[in-house]
Amino acid sequence: MDRIYYFDNAATTRVSPEVIDEISKYFSESYFNPSSIYTPAQKTKEAVEKAREKVARAFNADTKEIYFTSGGSESDNWAIKGIAEAYADKGRHIITTAIEHHAVLHTCEYLETKGYEITYLPVDQDGLISLDDLKKAIRPDTILITVMFANNEIGTIQPIGEIGKIAREHGIIFHTDAVQAAGHVPIDVKELNIDLMSMSGHKLYAPKGVGALYIRKGIKIKNLIHGGQQERGRRATTENVPGIVGLGKAVESACANMQEETERQRRMRDRIIDGILSKIDHCWLNGSREKRLPGNINISFEFVEGESILLLLDMYGICGSSGSACTSGSLDPSHVLLAIGLPHEKAHGSLRITLGRFNTEEEADYLIEKLPPIIERLRQMSPLYEEYIKNKRG
Ligand SMILES: *Cc1c(COP(=O)(O)O)cnc(C)c1O
Repeated sequence: MDRIYYFDNAATTRVSPEVIDEISKYFSESYFNPSSIYTPAQKTKEAVEKAREKVARAFNADTKEIYFTSGGSESDNWAIKGIAEAYADKGRHIITTAIEHHAVLHTCEYLETKGYEITYLPVDQDGLISLDDLKKAIRPDTILITVMFANNEIGTIQPIGEIGKIAREHGIIFHTDAVQAAGHVPIDVKELNIDLMSMSGHKLYAPKGVGALYIRKGIKIKNLIHGGQQERGRRATTENVPGIVGLGKAVESACANMQEETERQRRMRDRIIDGILSKIDHCWLNGSREKRLPGNINISFEFVEGESILLLLDMYGICGSSGSACTSGSLDPSHVLLAIGLPHEKAHGSLRITLGRFNTEEEADYLIEKLPPIIERLRQMSPLYEEYIKNKRG
C-alpha cells in the first residue's frame, strides 16, 4: 500500500499498540458477561471497574461518577436530555453556544420541539464566548449551561473554569463536551466546577464505539437507555468490555505522557502554521493562536474550495479535512466558520489539519512542501483569482 500521511486526528485516531495489547484478550479468552456469577465473569467485571478507576483518576472524579457509554454523541445526548427532563419542573431554559458539535446542537434543537428554550451564545473571531454574554443569558428558569471544552474544527479552548464558576454561583448545572480535550489537555472536574463531562474513546487512541459521561455526585439525571441494571442502573446494555478496558488504558497513557506529547505537538503545529502562512499568500489561521488545542491547525485559503484542496492532497496520500460543502454532505459552509464571522465565500476554502501522537516531523515537512504548489495550481484554475489579479493590475 502507498504511504499514508494521516492528519485527521480530530476525526478519529488510530488505536495505540498498548491499547490493542491490553484489550485483545477481552475478545477471546475473557469474553464473559460481567453480570454473570461464575469466577471468570467476575474477572471481566473487575477489568471494567479498573478502567472506571483509571478514567476517574485522570479527571479527579470519583469512581462512582464515571458512566461508560457508546461514545461522545451518546454522552452529549444523555447529559442534555437527561438533565432537561430531570429538572423540567425547575425550568426549561438551556444555554449553549453557536459552535457546538452537532451532537449537542441537534440535541438542543430536538428539545426546542419539546417546549424547551435554547440560547445559542455567539463567539468572537477567535471562537471564544464572552462571559458577560453568558451572565446576561442566565434566567431564573435556566437549568443547564452546555459549552464545549475545545472546538473540533478550529481548536479553540473555552474559559471552562470561569464558566463553571459562574454556573456554580447561579446554581445552574454545567455540562461540557470534552471529546476533543480529554486526554489532550489537563482536566480537573472539581477545580473547574464541571457537573457533567462527555468524552469519547476514538479521539484518544481507544476504539470507536466507547465513551464516558462524568456525572457529579448529587446531580439528578434521567436515563437515556432503559433495560438492565448495568452502570448502577443508569445505562442498560451489556458492557462493551474491550472498549471500556481500552478507554481506561488510553486515558491512563495519555495522562502519563501528556506534558511531553503536548509540547511536541504544539511545536509541530506552530511550525506547520508558520510554514504555510509564510509560503502562501492570501491565507489566514482560523481560531485563537494561544487558546488552542496542541494538535489543531485550521487555515482558510482565498479563491479556492476546501474540497478541491482535499482531493489534491489525497493524491499525495495526505488525509485532512475541511469545514465545507460536499465533504460534510451539505452545501452550507461550516457553522463554526460562519460563527467566527467568515462570510460564506471565505468559509468554503478552509483546510483542517489535526495532529496526533503518531505524526512525525518528517510528515510535517512533507505537508509543508506539498501544500503550496497545490494551492497555486487551484488558484490558476480559479475565476475568482483571475478576477482578483486583473483588478490588482488595474
Ligand atoms: C467526535 C466528537 C463528538 C462525537 O463523538 P463520537 O464518539 O464520534 O460519537 C462529539 N463532540 C465532539 C467535540 C467531537 O469532536
